[in-house]
Amino acid sequence: MIDRSEAVRMDERDPLAAFRDRYIIPDPGLIYLDDSSLARPLKVTRQLLGQVLEDEWAGGLVRSWSHWIDLAQRLGDRLGDGLLGAAPGQVVFCDSTTVNLYKLSMAALTARPGRRVIVTDDGNFATDRYVAEGIAARSDTELRLVRSHPDTGVDRRALQDALDDDVAVVSLSLVGYRSGALLDMAAVNDLVHRAGAYMVWDLSHAAGVVPIDLDGSGADLAVGCTYKYLGGGPGAPAYLYVRRELQEALRQPIWGWFGQRDPFAMGPEYDPVPGIERFLCGCPPIISMTVARPGIDVLAEAGIDAVRAKSLRLTELILELATDRLPELRPASPADGERRGAHVTFEHPQARRMVAELADRQVVIDYLEPDRIRFGPSPLFTRYADVWDAFDRLYAITKEIT
Ligand SMILES: *Cc1c(COP(=O)(O)O)cnc(C)c1O
Repeated sequence: MIDRSEAVRMDERDPLAAFRDRYIIPDPGLIYLDDSSLARPLKVTRQLLGQVLEDEWAGGLVRSWSHWIDLAQRLGDRLGDGLLGAAPGQVVFCDSTTVNLYKLSMAALTARPGRRVIVTDDGNFATDRYVAEGIAARSDTELRLVRSHPDTGVDRRALQDALDDDVAVVSLSLVGYRSGALLDMAAVNDLVHRAGAYMVWDLSHAAGVVPIDLDGSGADLAVGCTYKYLGGGPGAPAYLYVRRELQEALRQPIWGWFGQRDPFAMGPEYDPVPGIERFLCGCPPIISMTVARPGIDVLAEAGIDAVRAKSLRLTELILELATDRLPELRPASPADGERRGAHVTFEHPQARRMVAELADRQVVIDYLEPDRIRFGPSPLFTRYADVWDAFDRLYAITKEIT
C-alpha cells in the first residue's frame, strides 16, 4: 500500500517540480488531471498576448506582416526540432487537425494512382475515421477498417493483414486517445512502405509527452493538434509534417494563395511553392500561433526524455494506486509502460457518475463513453501527491456509490 508520504517524497525528488510555478494556477485546490484534453496556460503567455496586441498589431499594423509572414514555418521548425525529431522545412502550422488529415490523405491518395484503398482502425479518434470515410464516400476510394482492441490498440499483425497493393494510404494515431496504446512508429512505417503505401500519423495524443523521431523513423506524413499536452490553448492551430523528399511529388486538394509560389503576385494560375508551404491554404492565425509557442518551448526546455520519465512514473503511480485501493477499476490501457503514452484509462460501469462526483470534489479527469475514465496527468504541473489525493477522493466516492 502506497501512503501519501511516499507520494510527497516523490515530489521532493522530482527534477521537474519547479516547472509547476511557470503555469497560471488560479485555483490551487483543484486537481487537474486532464492535460490530455487541454493543458493549463503558462504565465509568460500573458506577456506575449499583450505584446502581440500592443506592439505588433496596434503598433505595427499591416507592417507587422513583414515578420508574421513566415511565423507558421518558424513555429513549425521549433516544434519539429524541439519535440518531433524533424529537421527544418518539414513542419508547418495551419488549419485544424481534421483539415490537415484531409489535405495529407488526399495528397497521398492522389500520388498513388491505381491504388484505391485508405486504411485506418475502428478505434481511431472519431474525426480521423470520419475524414477517411468522407474521402471514401466522394471518390472511387474504399475505406478499410482494421479491428483494434479497445485496451491495447492496433495489433501489428492485424494491420499487416489489411495491407496489399491496393492500399494507397494508412492513417493511424501514434497514441490511442482511449487506451493510450503507443505504436512503434518505425516498425509501422516499414510495414506500410513494404506494401507501397504512404503512412499518415496523427500525433495529437503523443506530441510533447512521448519521444518522436519523424525523420529517423522514416515517417512520410504527420498531423497533430497543439491544444492537448502541447498547451497551445483551446482551438489552437494544428501542424503538419511532410518529409522533404515527398514535398514536390505531393499536391494537397485545397489550392489557396498561401501555397502559391508568389502569393502577392496574384497570378492567373495556381503554381505551388516547391517546399512545405505548398501545404498551406490561407492566412495564418498569428495571435493563436503566438499563444501556442510557450507550451512548446517549456516542454522542449524540460527535455522530452525527462518529461517521458516523469510521465511514466505518474501513470505507474495511477495504476499502482488503482490496484491497491480500487481493484474494481479495470485497467483499460497497456500495462507495459513502453507501449503506453501519457494517459491511463480504466473501465467501470459507474464511470460517468465517478467523473461527475470527482468534479464536485475538485478533481478533473475525463469521461469516455460509455464506461471509461481517463487520467491525463501533466509531467510539468501535476504533483505525485495530487494523484494520491485524487485516488483518495475516488476511493471515498466508490464506497458511497457502489
Ligand atoms: C484531439 C484530436 C483531434 C482533434 O482534431 P481537431 O480538428 O482539432 O478537432 C484529431 N485527432 C486526434 C487523434 C485527436 O486526439
